[in-house]
Amino acid sequence: MHQLTLAEIARGLADKKFSSEELTKTLLARIAQLDPQLNSFISLTEDLALAQAKDADARRANGESGALLGAPIAHKDLFCTQGIRTSCGSKMLDNFKAPYDATVVAKLAAAGAVTLGKTNMDEFAMGSANESSYYGAVKNPWNLEHVPGGSSGGSAAAVAARLLPAATATDTGGSIRQPAAFTNLTGLKPTYGRVSRWGMIAYASSLDQGGPLARTAEDCAILLQGMAGFDPQDSTSIDEPVPDYSAGLNGSLQGLRIGVPKEYFSAGLDPRIAELIHNSIKELEKLGAVIKEISLPNMQHAIPAYYVIAPAEASSNLSRFDGVRFGYRCEDPKNLIDLYKRSRGEGFGPEVQRRIMVGAYALSAGYYDAYYLKAQKIRRLVKNDFMAAFNEVDIILGPTTPNPAWKLGAKSSDPVAAYLEDVYTITANLAGLPGLSMPAGFVDGLPVGVQLLAPYFQEGRLLNVAHQYQLNTDWHTRTPTGF
Ligand code: GLN
Repeated sequence: MHQLTLAEIARGLADKKFSSEELTKTLLARIAQLDPQLNSFISLTEDLALAQAKDADARRANGESGALLGAPIAHKDLFCTQGIRTSCGSKMLDNFKAPYDATVVAKLAAAGAVTLGKTNMDEFAMGSANESSYYGAVKNPWNLEHVPGGSSGGSAAAVAARLLPAATATDTGGSIRQPAAFTNLTGLKPTYGRVSRWGMIAYASSLDQGGPLARTAEDCAILLQGMAGFDPQDSTSIDEPVPDYSAGLNGSLQGLRIGVPKEYFSAGLDPRIAELIHNSIKELEKLGAVIKEISLPNMQHAIPAYYVIAPAEASSNLSRFDGVRFGYRCEDPKNLIDLYKRSRGEGFGPEVQRRIMVGAYALSAGYYDAYYLKAQKIRRLVKNDFMAAFNEVDIILGPTTPNPAWKLGAKSSDPVAAYLEDVYTITANLAGLPGLSMPAGFVDGLPVGVQLLAPYFQEGRLLNVAHQYQLNTDWHTRTPTGF
C-alpha cells in the first residue's frame, strides 16, 4: 500500500479497495519502523491522523468524493498547526504550539487530507542540506551517508522513502526543487502569491512560497489544487482563478518552445548532470517540443543578491523571537538586555545567527545603499532577463542543481560552498516565477533533477510538461533500496 501515489490512493479509496483508516495505520507503522534511519519527522500526529482518517471515511460513505479525501500527507514544520508543536526546526520554537492553523493546513484539512506529522527541516528554512535542524540531520534514503537537500529535507526524505505519498514544503531559494532533485521526487514552487503564506513562519517574506513535494507531476497537481488560491489574510496573495491542474495534464507538447539558457552549462556543472539534462531535452523533443538557446545574462549576480536580500528579510522577520513575544527564554536573565541576548544566543543555531548578522549589517544606515539597494536592483535585472526570455519561449529548462547530493558534513564548515549550490534555483524566487524539478536520471546512484521554469501563474504548463515527460520515462518510478 505504501507504493501508491496520491492519484492511485484516490482511486483505491473511491473503489473501496481500502479505507483511509487502514492506509493511515499502515503508513504510521511504516514510519515507526523506518524513520529512525532517516529522521524525517520532528513530530508525529497519530491521534489527529486516525481521527481525520475516520472522518474522511465517513464523508466518503456519505457520498462525498475528492482527490484528497482520506489522503495521508505531512506538513513541513513551519506551517502552523493548531495545538501541535510548530518548531521551524529550531530550539527557539521547540515548545511552541501554534494557536491556529496556517491557511494551507486548514485548506488541506477541509479537503479531507490526513496529517501524519510535521517534517524535519533546516532551522528557519535556512540551508540546502537539512543539517542545521535543532532536531538533527535528515538522511537521504538513496544513500544514508548523503544529505537529502534542504531546507525541506524531511518532507523529501519521507516521500522518497515511501513513508507517505506527498508532503507540503516551502521554497525561498530552492527548498522544494533542490530536495526533490536530491531524492528523485517531483516538486513545484508556485508563482509568488499563488499559495497563501498566512501561518507559514516567515524566512524571507518576498521570496517564500509553499508548494507540493510528491513522486509525480500528477500528484503535485492534486496537492497544489488543495493548497492554491486567494487568501485575504495574506496581503501578498493574488486573486487569480485557480485552474483545474489535473485536467490540464494531458495537453500536447507539439510546438512547445523550450528555452535552454547557455549560462546554465558553465564550468560549475557536473558534466554527468549536463548529459542527463541533454537526454531529457531529447525526450521532450520526441514529444514535439522545439528547443531554442537563450541567454540569462544577469544570472551570475543572483547568488550574491539573494544572499543579501534573504538574510536582510530574515533579520527583520526573526526579531520577534526575543524570549518575550515568542520563543525560548534563557534561565535567570539579569536584566532585559541579558534576556534578549542570551535567549537569542541560546535559541538560534549558528547558521541562523550568521544570517541575522549579515542581514542586519546589509540593512544598517551606512551600508543599505551599497548592499540591500544594489541587491534589489539586481533582482529587477534578473526578472527582466526572464521577461525577455519568455517573449521567445514557453518554458525554460536546465539542471536543478550543479551537483548531486553531497555527503553529510561535507559543506557544513563552509557556508559559501553550500550557497553556491543554489545557483539554478534562486533566480525563480528573485523573479517570483513558478519552477518545477523532476527526476532525470542518476549519477553514482544518486538522483538528478531537471528544472522547468514558466511565466507567472503557468504552474499548469509546468505540470503538463512534467506529466508528459513522466508518461514516457521511468526515472520517477525508481525506489531507493531498503525502502
Ligand atoms: N538554500 C537556500 C537558503 O539557504 C534556500 C533555502 C530555502 O529555499 N528555504 O537560503
